[in-house]
Amino acid sequence: MANGLRDGTVSSEALVDAHLARIDARRELNAFIHVAADSARMEASVADRVGHARSQLQPLTGIPIAIKDNILVKDVPCTCGSRMLQDWVAPYDATATGRLKSAGAVILGKTNCDEFAMGSSNENSFFGPVRNPVDPERVPGGSSGGSAAAVAGFQAAAALGSDTGGSVRLPAAFCGVVGLKPTYGAISRWGLIAFASSLDQVGVLARTVEDTRLVFDAIRGFDPRDSTSIAVPPVRRIPDELTIGLPREYYGEGLDPEVRRAITHAAEVLQADGHKLVDVSLPHSKYTIAAYYVVCCAEASANLARYDGVKYGYRTPVTEDLLTMYGRTRAEGFGTEVKRRILLGTYVLSAGYYDAFYATAQRVRSKIAGDFSEAFRTVDCLLTPTAPTCAFKLGEKLNNPLAMYLMDIYTTSVNLAGLPAVSVPCGRSTAGLPIGAQIIGRPFEENLILSVAEEVERQQRMTNSAG
Ligand code: GLN
Repeated sequence: MANGLRDGTVSSEALVDAHLARIDARRELNAFIHVAADSARMEASVADRVGHARSQLQPLTGIPIAIKDNILVKDVPCTCGSRMLQDWVAPYDATATGRLKSAGAVILGKTNCDEFAMGSSNENSFFGPVRNPVDPERVPGGSSGGSAAAVAGFQAAAALGSDTGGSVRLPAAFCGVVGLKPTYGAISRWGLIAFASSLDQVGVLARTVEDTRLVFDAIRGFDPRDSTSIAVPPVRRIPDELTIGLPREYYGEGLDPEVRRAITHAAEVLQADGHKLVDVSLPHSKYTIAAYYVVCCAEASANLARYDGVKYGYRTPVTEDLLTMYGRTRAEGFGTEVKRRILLGTYVLSAGYYDAFYATAQRVRSKIAGDFSEAFRTVDCLLTPTAPTCAFKLGEKLNNPLAMYLMDIYTTSVNLAGLPAVSVPCGRSTAGLPIGAQIIGRPFEENLILSVAEEVERQQRMTNSAG
């Protein structure tokens, strides 16, 4: 698209119209909560005017991009997939949004997501589930399911998501697109509505690794408004021959045989490219899900205390006294999963249980981070499956939260340790469902993991064109 804009063979207005038509044609995917058609057309016409002075074209000028509905876009509704924020309009741009706009990108609209980004299937949205464009009877993965479906369904050129425990990578894997969760601090969280602040990161979903890089480069870097954000560090030259670790705990029981086959094939391809594969161990992996759900619920229970009917969003009509108003607002405004997390979170933080649960989870978290540091003494990156299975049917796991939580078994450890990881398509199941390979890197080595992802992608392209 950028090449077309540069040679003048296409206009940004035409690109925006084509994407809007596509959003309309596949409404059943329910990928968008809000389509910003008018402002997108206006931004496109500005981009086209800039485009006439070709020297001012940046890589994203005029490119239509979608934003997950928990990232603020000024003067556009931001619901977080929740009744609580159904009518709330963002008063300012998130840093990531602002940087996309300064890079000339056109904001197409806000994508559907699990309520407050809590979920793995995008079925926890107040605005209804998103469907997987590859098979609409199946979930797109969550919580950035709308962003993944929009990108896979050609309703946006790329999209922003957020990843607290896998929410960019899992939907990327289920929909067959690329999903990057950068190092904690690589992208400012200013204007990303908080779920679990020590784990949350803005991430990028796109159809190719190259597109992912373009968007990431436009939005990364230090922001004085987020004290955990960090300037782009100098990149290490990527050695031609890498040592790639295969953590044995990620290839154990519970991994679908078709997923295993596809990841093993990706590993063999990397080996044939001249890289060295080594077996490594991350011995605390079995505690990952437990530690993650204690930490994320604890932080969520604190972050979500602000939705009290006074400061933001929904307020119950029953307001006879303050306490009843608080209680009813929260009972009516939040969905089941959000309530479950607030209850779990307040429980693990309560005086009698803090040491047993929260403090223990924090100790486990540092053990998990330690496992990665140990592995990275001998390997340059790790290759694992992104998810244990392919996309499942809508409704299949709704009544079993634990089975749903287990979808995050290979992704949450990365957030607990603050590392960068990318999910890249590496094949399809016999039923034609996409499979994602996850490449995990050292802090701030996005460049390295993306280049490994590119090798996997190249091989996929060759297989597809041969097929
Ligand atoms: N599926 C995980 C959860 O429900 C991850 C969510 C996320 O990354 N936002 O918490």
